[in-house]
Amino acid sequence: MTNSPLPYGRQSISDEDVDAVAEALRSDWLTTGPKVGEFERAFASYVGAREAVAVSNGTAALHALMRALGVGPGDEVIVPTMTFAATSNAALYEGATPVFADVDAKTLLLDPASVEARITPRTKAVVAVDYAGQPADYVALRKITDRHGLKLASDGCHAVGATERGRPVGSIADLTAFSFHPVKHLTTGEGGMITTNDATLAQRMRVFRNHGITTTHREREHQGSWEYDMEELGYNYRLTDVMCALGLSQLARVPAWVARRREIAARYDKAFAPLEGIEPLAVRDGVEHAYHLYVVQVDANRAAVFHALRKDGIGVNVHYRPVHLHPYYRRRFGTKPGDHPAAEAAYERILSIPMFPLMTDADVDRVVEALARAVRANPRRST
Ligand SMILES: *Cc1c(COP(=O)(O)O)cnc(C)c1O
Repeated sequence: MTNSPLPYGRQSISDEDVDAVAEALRSDWLTTGPKVGEFERAFASYVGAREAVAVSNGTAALHALMRALGVGPGDEVIVPTMTFAATSNAALYEGATPVFADVDAKTLLLDPASVEARITPRTKAVVAVDYAGQPADYVALRKITDRHGLKLASDGCHAVGATERGRPVGSIADLTAFSFHPVKHLTTGEGGMITTNDATLAQRMRVFRNHGITTTHREREHQGSWEYDMEELGYNYRLTDVMCALGLSQLARVPAWVARRREIAARYDKAFAPLEGIEPLAVRDGVEHAYHLYVVQVDANRAAVFHALRKDGIGVNVHYRPVHLHPYYRRRFGTKPGDHPAAEAAYERILSIPMFPLMTDADVDRVVEALARAVRANPRRST
């Protein structure tokens, strides 16, 4: 048995990727050039959306999404507490107030009943999270947002390639944000994308990522003009041509990668089914999961299991500490333990175990054995 370290996620870079980057480096455009639009069109087509807007990372994508939602001071945006802090931070960047909702205990997806309970006259939008790569319950959420006249957006950073009732994440919500960090489905080093069917919102986000200026340097070069208008306060959130060349090259392999992630998940599911004390998250009917993460809930001393696996060279992780429990949110908004019981209970039990397309079946079996051993050896302390 090998003890070589197995990370929880890992990118795959091919010779074709390297060639695509080298070619972009030798071209005339290092930053905003032809590869940006090419990558945007290819990504939009993959997720079945009309428009895609490339930005410098997933957090910038969420920020642009909040701008496109039009939320600001005095507005509330409902987000699940079981997410990465960037989801709710993005609302704060625009001066809006994030309001946390609880998740379903079996899937850790935003609980529609909890959303409904938190709607006030100030609520402007709901941002679901496709946690671990499983689409949120969009049918139930859309009923709620339609009834209250709210926008429905998605933090789809985990869910490239996931579908719900045949509709890909990226084409279901009004706006969807993606990340191309190396642990995600495809990478550009740092990078992000927002997809939408609304051309006006897409144009607004293209201006937002370029300081709020309505023409790009390349367009002005084309027109032989130096003049430009800054129409609103934007940021420099551009993704470079070099990174878009990498993204385009990576995108071609995403369907095969997602298929491999599903095979790995099926192997885990089968191995864990007869084992006591290891419960994989539930998968809803009608979804095709993208398995950014494979998350189990363990009936054991989670900290001891975590450390035992790390000692075995197995890169486990915990996604996530519920955001309302972070000191910043507690200080600023008075959020506290007890606010979201399902997310808090899950947080005591969850472990993300290795999941990436290059894992071999032997790697999967090694994780299963090590996890089973660690759970048996570390029963939950009875108090
Ligand atoms: C990765 C991730 C982000 C942030 O993406 P970056 O590219 O790292 O800025 C936001 N939300 C979720 C759920 C993520 O997994």
